[in-house]
Order: sequence, then C-alpha cells, then structure tokens
Amino acid sequence: VHVHDSPDEAAFRAEARAWLERHARRRSGAGDWSEQRVPTSAEAERAHLERCRSWQRTLFEGGYAAITWPVELGGRAGTPAEAMIFDEEQAAFDVTTGFLRSIIALVGPVLRLHGTDWQRERFLRPLLRGDEIWCQLFSEPGAGSDLAGLATRAELDGDELVVTGQKVWTSGAHHADWGIALVRTNPDAPKHRGITFLVVDMHDPGVTVRPLRQMTGAAHFNEVFLDGVRVPRAHVVGEIDGGWAPARTVLTHESAMIGSGAGMDRTERLLELARQTGASADPRLRQRLASLWAHERTLGWMAHAVKAAVRRGVPPPVDGSVLKLAWARTLVMRGDLALAVLGAAGIAAGHADAERWQHELCMRFAGTIGGGTSEVHRTQVGERVLGLPAEPRADKDVAWRDLPRS
Ligand SMILES: Cc1cc2nc3c(=O)[nH]c(=O)nc-3n(C[C@H](O)[C@H](O)[C@H](O)COP(=O)(O)OP(=O)(O)OC[C@H]3O[C@@H](n4cnc5c(N)ncnc54)[C@H](O)[C@@H]3O)c2cc1C
Repeated sequence: VHVHDSPDEAAFRAEARAWLERHARRRSGAGDWSEQRVPTSAEAERAHLERCRSWQRTLFEGGYAAITWPVELGGRAGTPAEAMIFDEEQAAFDVTTGFLRSIIALVGPVLRLHGTDWQRERFLRPLLRGDEIWCQLFSEPGAGSDLAGLATRAELDGDELVVTGQKVWTSGAHHADWGIALVRTNPDAPKHRGITFLVVDMHDPGVTVRPLRQMTGAAHFNEVFLDGVRVPRAHVVGEIDGGWAPARTVLTHESAMIGSGAGMDRTERLLELARQTGASADPRLRQRLASLWAHERTLGWMAHAVKAAVRRGVPPPVDGSVLKLAWARTLVMRGDLALAVLGAAGIAAGHADAERWQHELCMRFAGTIGGGTSEVHRTQVGERVLGLPAEPRADKDVAWRDLPRS
C-alpha cells in the first residue's frame, strides 16, 4: 500500500504495474540481465545496447518513455508523481535502458527548453524511441573542470558552421548518431560568452571516434576528432555565442540525474558478503560497513526529499551538487570496502563474486570525476548552497584568445 497515493495515483500505479507485468519479467535477484556489468567485447556491448533500445521502444510505444512530456512530443502529459510511480514500479522488473537513460536525461530537457520547433520535431521522438543514439561533446583535453575554456572552434561559412577540434571522454560516441557539442565561435569575447551549442552529425566524414579502453576492460568513452565538420545553422541550439545557457541546463540535469542513481541494493549485497566471509566480525570493518550503510541511507533520504518536492511541485530542497557528491562518496566507500571484505580473494581472477567487486572498485574513480569532479562540486556547494564568498575569477572579463591555455 502506498500511503501517499491519491485515488488517481493509485489507479495509475495499478495500470502501470499491469502493463509492466505484460511486457517484462520480474527481477529474480540472481542472474538478472539488467544487473549485468557493461560488457567488455564489442559484440557483447552491441547486443547489450540493442536490448536496452528494445526496452526503450517498448516504453515509448506504451506511452511511458516521457510521462510528463506533452503528447505531441512523445509523452503522455502526466504528472511528476506519475513519473515517479512508474519508476518505483519498474524497479521491480528485470529491465533497463542502460546508457539511454542518461542521454535522454541530458538531451531531452535542453532541446525542449532551448531548441527550435524544428529541432523538437526532428529530434525528440527518435531520441525517446531509442532510434537515434546521442553523445555529449563537451570536455576537451584542455577543458574539463574549466569547461568554458574550450578550444574546438566553429566558423560560419554561408549557412553552415565548420567545426574543427578535439573532444575527449565522450561516453557512447562509438554508438552515437548525434552529439550535443560546445564550440568556440567568438574568441574575442570572454570565455563564457563566445560559445555556441550545436547538434553534430556523428556520421559526418569529418568525425573520427577512437574508443578509450578503461581499467574495467570496457571502452565506455572515446576521443572524438572533428575535422572540418559542416553543421547546418538550423542545428544551433539557442543563439550563436549564447551556448552557455543551454550548456548550464545540461550540466544541472546531469548532476541531479547521476546523484539520484540507486546503489542501496549493492550495499545490502556487500553486507551479506561480509556476513558470509566472517568479515563482519572484525570490529574495524564493522565500523566501516556501518558508516557506508549510514551514508547510503542519507543519500537515499535526500533523493527521496527531492522526489517528494517534485511530486508536490515545489523546488527541490537538496542541490544537485550535494546529491552528486554524496553519491560519489558512497561509490568510493563501497568500492574500497568490498575489497577489504573479500581479503586475498579480492585480487583473484575468474572468481565471479570477486570480479563483480573488482569492477566496482575500478568504477569508483569514474564516480568522482564524471559529471564534474568532487572538488568542483564542493566549490559549487560552497557558493550556491552555503553562500560563501565566490572563488576569485580573474579571467571573467578577459577575451578568451588572451587567456593562458594548457
Ligand atoms: C566515466 C566518465 C564519463 C564521462 N563522460 C563524458 C561525456 O560523455 N561527455 C563529456 O563531455 N565529458 C565526459 N566526461 C568528462 C568529465 O566531465 C571530466 O573528466 C571532468 O569534468 C573533469 O575534467 P578533466 O578530466 O579535464 O580534469 P581537470 O579539469 O583537468 O581536473 C584535474 C584535477 O584538478 C581539479 N581541479 C580543476 N579545477 C579545479 C578548481 N577550480 N578547484 C579545485 N580543483 C580543481 C579537479 O577536481 C581534478 O582533481 C566523463 C568523465 C568520466 C570519468
């Protein structure tokens, strides 16, 4: 029984659950495909992606891919509460949309808020159906935390922009049809004011994608080289030189989206492992396990408070950077602790349990970097949440071309 459901919401919950029962299998707790790690061979990766796409399409056809969006954009004009109810119900089933979830969360809002009618019409439905895959071409070798310092340039040539430069850490670019890109269009303006936000065709002959293999064995992200890529002016999102506003929309959604990712089930599994191996009898490990559990619970409650606010239509009480920081911290604690619990078995190869936790340990580094580093999010919490004095920004009014660059 969900005590917060109104009669209409209870009816929606029943309808959503019945639909899920018809289209998916319930989680079994062991061997669920939605729990599988990202595969390390190219074929397995493609097969995994196809399965995620197939579930995305099923959601779209059932009217559940974007519950709160207007019907004409592929949604069902539902309430935020209904979107949450659907997520709660879906969590009991062995389904995932994997990487598509994050890309829809990044690209959807920015095109809805800042895109032209033509862009919304052209791009949003194929995005929601999983027909077209997207990537985020923001970071560069010399511009990550200092994203506004980016150097990939674009010059207007008639009705097109010609883009040249390099991006890096581009998740999923090796599968992508389209990329949202930030490019420098006015080197004479201060760095935030000379950037344009573009939609780039990843199949353009000037685009070269080189996968980067990580220590998990998976090639999750890529280097992307852009060499004279021609982008029609109709693909500019927002104004020319005004790309920082849509970029902010993407970054805000990114930290909230990452921070609300669940992990409590893995912590429960780690506690179970500690009981099995006897590690839970070690007083030092017990303390660390209790601390992890408490941190993760706190994160869960913060995410819950955000959801409750969204449900009531009021501003979220927890900043996205706070959520992202708390999420990254539990990832670090859990990864380190898992190996301590496993002891010598933790470094064994071919031991299924150990391999799962080794993967978790390797991924913990990505958690404190991707979506903005913890140091940068702490600065934002200081300024935005605590109202501390702002970091000195000596380059704020200096033309980008006069700034020192690495
Ligand atoms: C798994 C993963 C996926 C990613 N996917 C994408 C993607 O799809 N698209 C994309 O565009 N990018 C992506 N990124 C890139 C990510 O956004 C950047 O790695 C991140 O913003 C940090 O930038 P950087 O790597 O250039 O590090 P740098 O900015 O060079 O930072 C190096 C170190 O200096 C510290 N530092 C820098 N500036 C400050 C400051 N002002 N105050 C205090 N400390 C500071 C940082 O915290 C860090 O410890 C991904 C990264 C990861 C790990």
